[in-house]
Amino acid sequence: MTKKIISLQKSFIHGAYVSSESGKDFPTYNPATGELICNVQSAGEKEIEAAVQSAWESQKAWAETPVIERSRILHKAARLLRERNVELAELEVMDTGKPINEAESVDVLTGADAIEFYANAAVALAGDYNKTDSGFYYTRHAPFGVCAAIGAWNYPLQIACWKSAPALVTGNSLIFKPSEVTPLTANCLAEIYSEAGVPPGVFDVVHGDGTTGALLSSHPRIRKIAITGEVGTGKKVMTAAASNLKNISMELGGKSPIIVFADANLNEAVSGVMLGNFYTQGEVCSNGTRVFVEEKVYEAFLTLLKARTEKLRVGDPMDHATTIGAMIHQQHHDKVLNYIKQGIAEGARLICGGNDLKLEGRCAKGNFISPTIFADCTDEMTIVKEEIFGPVAAILPFKTETEAIKRANHCEFGLAAGVFTQELTKAHRVADQLEAGVCWINNYNLTPSGMPFGGFKQSGIGRENCATALTEYTQEKTVFVSTDPIDCPYE
Ligand code: NDP
Repeated sequence: MTKKIISLQKSFIHGAYVSSESGKDFPTYNPATGELICNVQSAGEKEIEAAVQSAWESQKAWAETPVIERSRILHKAARLLRERNVELAELEVMDTGKPINEAESVDVLTGADAIEFYANAAVALAGDYNKTDSGFYYTRHAPFGVCAAIGAWNYPLQIACWKSAPALVTGNSLIFKPSEVTPLTANCLAEIYSEAGVPPGVFDVVHGDGTTGALLSSHPRIRKIAITGEVGTGKKVMTAAASNLKNISMELGGKSPIIVFADANLNEAVSGVMLGNFYTQGEVCSNGTRVFVEEKVYEAFLTLLKARTEKLRVGDPMDHATTIGAMIHQQHHDKVLNYIKQGIAEGARLICGGNDLKLEGRCAKGNFISPTIFADCTDEMTIVKEEIFGPVAAILPFKTETEAIKRANHCEFGLAAGVFTQELTKAHRVADQLEAGVCWINNYNLTPSGMPFGGFKQSGIGRENCATALTEYTQEKTVFVSTDPIDCPYE
């Protein structure tokens, strides 16, 4: 059943919705229809102080709750997410413009997967013990206390789960700020955590734009901050976090390469390239938007890719037949179209798409762009150098393996990479040399729970979706125990 949306969304602090003292609010729109979904109250300084205070008050008792109990509560939250998959997926579609098929099969369920993964892994998170010549020491993973996390708009609920689960299960409290353009599901997650037994103040949600985010990243009583967003935003957060030397985790942008060798199964390579460019209408950080194809199969690859791309169906995201939804908002839509114009102006060969699509009916005011493929691209072109974050693939021919690796690595980002070949040794040799946090061989954009995800170079700091993320929300505490008299040189 479709969830009823409250016309004025508020921040969720200490287990309840609170009105913002400033009274400032902002509208949020459906990207596919242009309709107003609701208004959202901005959290200002007063609400951030209230959230930090509430998080501090609640955190100690939460940290003292046995991990098995915290884990049980998180498992219940994951169960509730699964039970409400359809209604939450519908909200996510309304907020993001992504196709309902994706939201129903990925967004909510992978969020639940992550919560279950962390709930299980935390129970097994143990410290070290070692004997020394005069005693022994042991370590444990202690929570930071109050953490904050800031989300991007492409996977709002999944990002909230990826960040909150490792924070909460290790005994921290977390204040989460969703992107201002996709505020709906963070509040639902707060309600679900409450229902599952997370105490008031352990998971707060504050709404607002970058100003609210900056209040979190500069707050002296917040000990850790995690963000998913653009590189430029990551740098601002890192600078602000330096004010009290916060621990930081960052999942940032990318311009990832996919290398298709001549011996690859071409149909599989085309599937990978389509997944890596058109899923969530191209608004995916790890997308493989620089596609290097070996010259011997270049034209054959383009023919196949064009034929399959033209079968994609741009349409109403709520229609299960739709495979490409709407761009997040008009401004982003126009930015993507500008990149397409720049690609044409700089001499790339447009082989399909590139259109500002006008749909009929309820989506007549939506932000749609047809899936776009540019061939004959060169490394210097703007569309090859900059993150577009839309359904735009750039295809570049190459001759040798060494050349492909060198060109793939010639980039300030290093989030992900893909290699398509049937030759086992070549696949591993190339993957080994690609400067990327994640490298897929003969597939693309899969992130099963437990698989570390994060970037090299300017694409980020730290890893998510995996066991090491638990240690990123904790600090190692060492206790030395003396068993022998002190060997003291002083009389
Ligand atoms: P932005 O960097 O614009 O925003 C990310 C979040 O940061 C938003 O909540 C935003 O608030 C907030 N913010 C903006 N300015 C500040 C500031 N000065 N201090 C603190 N917080 C601030 O990214 P988008 O939301 O546009 O998301 C797209 C980007 O995210 C792409 O670059 C993409 O590659 C990256 N991304 C990376 C992923 C990864 O895992 N590596 C996954 C998904 C996306 P608001 O928007 O409300 O103003």
